[in-house]
Amino acid sequence: MSQLVLDEISVTFDGFKALNKLSLSVEKGELRCIIGPNGAGKTTMMDVITGKTRPDKGRAIFKEIDLTQLSEAKIATAGIGRKFQKPTVFEKLSVFENLELALKGPRGILTALFARLSGEQKDRIGELLATVGLAGSEARLAGSLAHGQKQWLEIGMLLAQEPDLLLLDEPVAGMTDHETEKTAELFLSLAGKHTLVVVEHDMDFIGRLGGHVTVLAEGSVLSEGTLAQVQADERVIEVYLGR
Ligand code: ADP
Ligand code: MG
Repeated sequence: MSQLVLDEISVTFDGFKALNKLSLSVEKGELRCIIGPNGAGKTTMMDVITGKTRPDKGRAIFKEIDLTQLSEAKIATAGIGRKFQKPTVFEKLSVFENLELALKGPRGILTALFARLSGEQKDRIGELLATVGLAGSEARLAGSLAHGQKQWLEIGMLLAQEPDLLLLDEPVAGMTDHETEKTAELFLSLAGKHTLVVVEHDMDFIGRLGGHVTVLAEGSVLSEGTLAQVQADERVIEVYLGR
């Protein structure tokens, strides 16, 4: 069975079908891109996976567990990490301290910062810094980082929890071209070890990632395939790419 399976998920807001029998599956270690027009239901799909929104119908199966039966907190500890568009790092703490907090988990900032780090935890922070390209910046205040660096720090904080599945909603929005390229390299390095589901509008970025692309429209899958295949799909051109 695929690692993540959405099976005929429907979500209705005040009679409006944000998701309409949405079905898709993602394999372990895959790097899947989700594209589609505004309002297609991309963020709602992530809300269903993380338990923020409950579907009216359908199942969301992750590692053979039905997520629609779990609380948001349980889902977070079941190996799913989510990155929102706006970075949520602690601006007044250093890069290192942000990773330290993420590693130690939720138990209050002061308690966590005063608890001693083991050698292993220090090594892990070193690894995370290297992975997200922030080695050498560990002493900087998170608030002083460039936009792209803040996003990478937040990804490092998610990785500290060792998620199997990472959900990334518009991760390169507001990034410079150079930052976008670095982010593509980062995601490619994470795929395989983690499963990535990336919602983006930036076609160059999606092209760099090179994975399968799912096109959502009006709450369900309109098309799926390589980027070249979906870009050549008349229905996709009509509702999304052609405008
Ligand atoms: P996308 O991320 O693809 O742009 P969304 O999932 O954010 O789309 O939204 C899908 C549709 O559902 C939109 O029409 C949006 O206005 C609506 N919607 C999303 N969340 C809510 C909510 N909490 N209450 C009412 N309508 C919502
Ligand atoms: Mg959205």
